[in-house]
Amino acid sequence: MARKSPIRRTVTRLERTAYHEAGHAVAAWHFELPIGTATIRPNKEKDTRGEVVVGNQLNGWQPGDGPRRQLLEERMVVDYAGYATEHVLDGGIGDYEVYGNDAVNPRSMMRIYNLHPPGCQSEFDEATIAPYEKRLRRRAFKLMKEFFPNVEKVKELLLARRTVNHAEIHAVLGDSDRS
Ligand SMILES: [Zn+2]
Repeated sequence: MARKSPIRRTVTRLERTAYHEAGHAVAAWHFELPIGTATIRPNKEKDTRGEVVVGNQLNGWQPGDGPRRQLLEERMVVDYAGYATEHVLDGGIGDYEVYGNDAVNPRSMMRIYNLHPPGCQSEFDEATIAPYEKRLRRRAFKLMKEFFPNVEKVKELLLARRTVNHAEIHAVLGDSDRS
């Protein structure tokens, strides 16, 4: 029997990784972004690792693809969704500001596509960039809170299969009730 609330229960390192990657995958599903694969790799000596490959809609962007700002923000939310999920799970991330690659990627996306927040003076303008990132991290947190039952489904799938693709994730989540 699953417990009624996963909040505050103890999770193994592998489960935590599965939750984290499931969060990225559910956010990508929510925004209808193409998912390559989602993977978790248990490793006793080194750290257990995971990865979700999500297609980048800004790459080769055409005017018909929708506003670039929106695509960037969706991508940033997908990046933040891993740690946001851990945060929903049990407050797991002590310092919510420190995200490793999950924070570096959104920043480099802003730079690569020249999509710094409105009013931003330079790529070092923390007065505009930091609150912008914070707003999108909050959005990721809210999204993962709302879609936590979906995160549970993908987490279970990852624990059972280790690697899953776009079709398998969509099969378990369905294509309705996405928003
Ligand atoms: Zn991550």
